[in-house]
Amino acid sequence: MSSANPAEGNMPAPLTNLKIQYAKIFINNEWHNSVSGKKFPVINPATEEKICDVEEGDKADVDKAVKAAREAFQMGSPWRTMDASQRGRLLNKLADLIERDRLPLATIEALNGGKLFPHAYMMDVSISPVILRYYASWADKIQGRTIPVDGKFFSYTRHEPVGVCGQILPWNFPLVMAIWKIAPALCCGNTVVIKPAEQTPLSALYLASLVKEAGFPPGVVNIVPGYGPTAGAAISSHMDVDKVAFTGSTEVGLLIKQAAGKSNLKRVTLELGGKSPCIVFADADLDTAVEAAHQGVFFHQGQCCIAASRLFVEESIYDEFVQRSVERAKKYTLGNPLNPGVQQGPQIDKEQYNKILDLIESGKKQGAKLECGGGPWGDKGFFIQPTVFSNVTDEMRIAKEEIFGPVQQIMKFKTIDEVIRRANNTHYGLAAGVFTKDLDKALTISSALQAGVVWVNCYGGGPPQAPFGGFKMSGNGREMGEYGLHEYTEVKTVTIKISEKNS
Ligand code: ADP
Repeated sequence: MSSANPAEGNMPAPLTNLKIQYAKIFINNEWHNSVSGKKFPVINPATEEKICDVEEGDKADVDKAVKAAREAFQMGSPWRTMDASQRGRLLNKLADLIERDRLPLATIEALNGGKLFPHAYMMDVSISPVILRYYASWADKIQGRTIPVDGKFFSYTRHEPVGVCGQILPWNFPLVMAIWKIAPALCCGNTVVIKPAEQTPLSALYLASLVKEAGFPPGVVNIVPGYGPTAGAAISSHMDVDKVAFTGSTEVGLLIKQAAGKSNLKRVTLELGGKSPCIVFADADLDTAVEAAHQGVFFHQGQCCIAASRLFVEESIYDEFVQRSVERAKKYTLGNPLNPGVQQGPQIDKEQYNKILDLIESGKKQGAKLECGGGPWGDKGFFIQPTVFSNVTDEMRIAKEEIFGPVQQIMKFKTIDEVIRRANNTHYGLAAGVFTKDLDKALTISSALQAGVVWVNCYGGGPPQAPFGGFKMSGNGREMGEYGLHEYTEVKTVTIKISEKNS
């Protein structure tokens, strides 16, 4: 999620002989075929070729996984009786194994996820152990309180794990999102059933093999690859799943909350879409703002929930800003993300590719000025030219809908009140950025924007210590940091009457 491009200098080459070893359902630390006998193809988005077939989990497989997770969660089980420090040691061990296997994991992320190999290696696979270690160190520090009540009673709280947690993952950061979900859940003593996105199950399945090697007891981590309306829905409507954590589209977030409401009122945390504003004032450092706003939307082909996809630029610098942004967007080398020197890879699949092209066409039709790009690239793979639109107005579809592609919308504003009103005029509220040297403006804007994250004079990136999540229809709850722990614990109040004989 960082915005800088890592240097390719000391980078090893991706593995050319990578064999996909893990393509089955992982339950109780064992590999299973699907109950239905079905498999589904996993595609390389740069070539449109099949990488392998993966066992296709559905309701029956989710039932098996939930049963295993429930058994692992029973009082008296090895997991429930484990010293909290030992849970931390297991998370640290998993971090060690990911570090050992950076190369195969990064190769999988590039091959299956269309992620630039240097990004996969230096960012995704490198940040994953950092997150695990952050939560490993929390494992034995999750404490309740003593409560000052009537002296005839003694009252205290326990922060207990929620139970069996269903975790439904997106395809844009397959490994990192798996780690975002399992690290706080396991740190608090929960058990998990994970469903990776159908487009990108391979790194989560590789991770499963490391979970086993690290020594987690059977049933603590279970991974069921499969489709959303089948395996995903089976998790969100399951009567024996205590919590579901989801990252993905707002449309599916709504379905997940409904499924929780129609089943057992399981706890729900959602990290959903965005249409995040990035506001550049005339006094900003222009070089910094142009580059950060550019990375803010073009990073990973625009496939980030935090994408700075509504760029508001103050009138007096608008023309120069557009010109520089267009020059920047024209500099890309597109191609297979496993090849050195490539700066932009493919979109994840045909559906996303078509959706982005449709939105680009709508921008042209609705009167935005196409400054560069505006169409597909190459003759195979889901590539789209880096695209910049100027003269964008708020009612255009490209200014309202989440595009999730390499498409920048540049809008003009005159006053601070106007830009605050326009920036907040959306159902979304995930992230925002502001560029200015004026502290008053920075503070005013960062207080006024309805967003879970605001970056000032930078855009993107978030260490595991800092909470992340959305206002409004961008989500419920927070991930990462100490706040992320609250989502994986239930608070129990215990009150004991002190015997009157002793008082
Ligand atoms: P996108 O539109 O970007 O593909 P989705 O929100 O559709 O994102 O998918 C994110 C995750 O949600 C994936 O793992 C997908 O399989 C899952 N999913 C999709 N539909 C449902 C559903 N009805 N119930 C539960 N999970 C779902």
